Amino acid sequence: MSVEHVTTVSYLPEGMPLPAPMPDGLDAPFWEGTKQHKLLVQRCKTCGSFQFGPEWICHKCRSGELSWVESSGRGKVYAFERVWHPVHKALKERGPYLIVLVELPDAGNVRMVGNLLGDPQQDVKIGDSVEVVWEDHTDVTLVQWQRI
Ligand SMILES: [Zn+2]
Repeated sequence: MSVEHVTTVSYLPEGMPLPAPMPDGLDAPFWEGTKQHKLLVQRCKTCGSFQFGPEWICHKCRSGELSWVESSGRGKVYAFERVWHPVHKALKERGPYLIVLVELPDAGNVRMVGNLLGDPQQDVKIGDSVEVVWEDHTDVTLVQWQRI
């Protein structure tokens, strides 16, 4: 990745619980990667398929031999939602905000959810190019997105 984008400003307001690693350790490599500003997805050592979110076995060939590989962090908007109605009390005054489902062409077109930074009323289109923005918190780094 040529330019790294980092923010320490939380997209979502105080009071919203942050995503956290699962207690079973399945997604621990993903979260270790985000702390190092690396976007990691699973790749099957047997058939080469990419997958995200993390699973214990490959969805294509059912192999348990999975590795973690780095994506460039550049993707395309596969879908988005401009949220106007609060789904949590901390979001009461926050709307609208943007949730995006981003497809990663360099990682088998796996998809990841995040927020789209910038004006919440920006003109987003399916297929828009986006890149990762690392949202650093004390215990966790979140994956957010911005249009490029
Ligand atoms: Zn496989």
